[in-house]
Amino acid sequence: MTNQDLQALVAAVSTEWFHRPFTNRASFNNRLRTTGGRMLLATENLEFNPKVFEAGDEAVRLGIIKHELCHYHLHQLHRGFRHRDADFRALLQQVGGLRFTPQLTPPAPPRYLYVCTGCGTPYPRKRRIDLRRLRCGKCGQRLRLVATNGK
Ligand SMILES: [Zn+2]
Ligand SMILES: [Zn+2]
Repeated sequence: MTNQDLQALVAAVSTEWFHRPFTNRASFNNRLRTTGGRMLLATENLEFNPKVFEAGDEAVRLGIIKHELCHYHLHQLHRGFRHRDADFRALLQQVGGLRFTPQLTPPAPPRYLYVCTGCGTPYPRKRRIDLRRLRCGKCGQRLRLVATNGK
């Protein structure tokens, strides 16, 4: 998704859900870490986290945009635009925005799971190992591949 796509999407969500135009700028900011987005108070521009947008589905993206638009419109209307404000909570609930940014998906688990044929000790590995050469560190028996994910 490009910044232009994002701008168009935020404007569309604003019209559809808030019945008010979004006349500021929406852009991605790579430096955002755990938050899905934020409003810059000085400019009322919105910034969104591209990593969260990539990892999330349609509902997550929409929920984050609605959340930031709640800040935006309430700030423009000089109403309670902070998380703790009743205005903010009520509007967020009304439009179905996300309260919290979902956690980014954790890194993929090991791709290969080996177990010892002797004692059953599991050996999760990121790469394939040479079964003819590698033995169990505990009992010295051979290992066996029992599961892979991915390819
Ligand atoms: Zn917020
Ligand atoms: Zn063993």
